[in-house]
Amino acid sequence: MSRKAKQAAQKILERFGDTLPIKLDAILKEHNISVRKEKLEDKTSGMLVIKDSYAIIGINDNHHPNRQRFTIAHELGHFLLHHTVSNVFIDSSLVFFRDEKASEGTKRQEIEANTFAAELLMPESVLIEKVRNLPPDDDKAVKELADEFAVSVQALTIRLTKLGLITA
Ligand SMILES: [Zn+2]
Repeated sequence: MSRKAKQAAQKILERFGDTLPIKLDAILKEHNISVRKEKLEDKTSGMLVIKDSYAIIGINDNHHPNRQRFTIAHELGHFLLHHTVSNVFIDSSLVFFRDEKASEGTKRQEIEANTFAAELLMPESVLIEKVRNLPPDDDKAVKELADEFAVSVQALTIRLTKLGLITA
């Protein structure tokens, strides 16, 4: 189910994947999506509102810029993958908290949006090349790599673990 999400990200990377960090601004412009930084409750990462000819992503201005990037990429994933399902997506930790009770459809959408965001910001093929030169168990190297992709160390670590490139 996440294959579709990964492929959607790779399609965008064909055109926008030649520089690091991935230039989200250009991708958003291409899709007629604008970003608004909002003062949101800490638990809310962001939201997506889809109109007829454009869309707006709201992100939590209090969060670290690298975390904001992941949220933007996540919302872009909803936009590309789930626009036929809903026009409004709100992402808060509450959603994840409610995961047990959430419908299977909602859960699947969130996984897909995360898969999309991870592949878009940290393309697997690029990551494999980078990690090849990475000294093992070197926190500083992981931090530097996170900076290069402009993602949080946490997001990168999750990604590396999932791809089996490091052991947790
Ligand atoms: Zn979401």
